[in-house]
Amino acid sequence: MKEHLTHPVFNIISEIIEKDNLKAFVIGGFVRDLFLNRQSKDIDIVVVGSGIDLAKKVASRIKPEVNISVFKAFGTAMLKFNNFEIEFVGARKESYRLNSRKPIVEDGSLEDDQNRRDFTINALALSLNKKTYGKLNDPFNGLSDLNNKIIRTPLEPEQTFSDDPLRMIRGIRFATQLGFTIVPEAIEAIKNIKERIKIVSSERIVDELNKILLTDKPSVGLKLLEETGLLEIIFPELTALNNVETINNQSHKNNFYHTLEVVDQICKNTDKLWLRWAALLHDIAKPATKKYVPNIGWTFHGHEFIGAKMIPGIFKRLKMPMNEKMNYVRKMVLLHLRPIILAEDIVSDSAVRRLLFDAGDDIEDLMTLAEADITSKNIKKVNKYLNNFKIVRKKLKDIEEKDAIRNFQPPVTGEVIMKVFELKPSREIGIIKDAIKDAILDGIVKNNFKEAYEYMLQKGKELGLTAKNDLSKSI
Ligand code: ATP
Ligand code: MG
Repeated sequence: MKEHLTHPVFNIISEIIEKDNLKAFVIGGFVRDLFLNRQSKDIDIVVVGSGIDLAKKVASRIKPEVNISVFKAFGTAMLKFNNFEIEFVGARKESYRLNSRKPIVEDGSLEDDQNRRDFTINALALSLNKKTYGKLNDPFNGLSDLNNKIIRTPLEPEQTFSDDPLRMIRGIRFATQLGFTIVPEAIEAIKNIKERIKIVSSERIVDELNKILLTDKPSVGLKLLEETGLLEIIFPELTALNNVETINNQSHKNNFYHTLEVVDQICKNTDKLWLRWAALLHDIAKPATKKYVPNIGWTFHGHEFIGAKMIPGIFKRLKMPMNEKMNYVRKMVLLHLRPIILAEDIVSDSAVRRLLFDAGDDIEDLMTLAEADITSKNIKKVNKYLNNFKIVRKKLKDIEEKDAIRNFQPPVTGEVIMKVFELKPSREIGIIKDAIKDAILDGIVKNNFKEAYEYMLQKGKELGLTAKNDLSKSI
């Protein structure tokens, strides 16, 4: 493998450890990805000795010298060199207690260090010592697991997972990213000790969920999470979607599997993490709104409104960002049916303007979500919808060019209204402003100052107000 160890850091390490009579290896994800021909962005170095000392020596050999970040509590150090994050750790032996992910750590050998790794494919180590440069250390047959596309733990799976329960989700994430199969014993072990996921912080869990959502086919991981029972613990709102009820011989669709299809479909058309999250959560309120109505069938009335309301609570519980990203997902969930309604009917300009107004710059994303939401097995139906979406997109474009609704700013401000009618801040101002906005969206007046001003005068009159000042020439 030595011809693949091209990053300049390997040579530097090799020289230092030769002089100091140490042993060091490149280990973990980098080695795995080398065999898989995947690009990695970080390099993990394990040294039998002090990782921090080795990092310091490496940093001082790099010209110009680079900074290192030292994490004393973990005995690790990190530096950035040639676009890679390089992490140094001393080989260690770990023993775990039941109630914590934090192990008791002692110095150890390479083997001890490989024993504490999560999967056999992540325990591969290449020697960096001159004599054995590039030689593979593979005590658990990780290479053969790599070739057979298998995820397996180095020790008894229950031991490995119980020591650090995050590994259960990491395994599912690797299976999804790499298209590998988790061995049945490991799946069984997850089912047995799934409850231990509760000691893992939400941030770590969400990191893994994000990585699953960023793969080409997140349904693989989401199904594994469901089948092992982990999803029920970490995301009960999603497992609540997984059922089918029948009344009077009428069944509704399984909204969990529908959601997975929508997520997989949207991944073909966007790399945006938060749009993928919106796809995952778009029907989240279907269980809460489900009703069987005689003569009509199953309905989920208002699931978009209730769903949007659920988003902040879900984000908060999972310690996800409570900022514009959450607002974006909430908005997508709220609006997800709107393009479909437009695509079902003859599209009026007014409805298109309203959608543009409500979606703003996120209109493209909303269309992408709505298109992914079509999962019917009836090809004719699918084609009809997709074709109608094309018409909606064309209308959106035409109307945006004509009326510039997307970043709508009211052409007549509250200030102008106050001055014209000599009003103090009051209810009337809001009424007039809304009336102007509605008139523009309904196409009754154009989106410009002149027409909006005229309309304001008319509305004022209807409310019994008299214009006291003429500001019609003010713009
Ligand atoms: P990626 O960088 O694509 O997420 P990776 O395998 O490199 O994948 P990292 O989190 O960068 O994962 O960790 C580097 C290595 O450290 C892993 O390959 C594995 O050997 C080890 N490792 C990381 N997290 C754990 C864990 N929770 N339990 C055991 N070993 C771990
Ligand atoms: Mg890595």
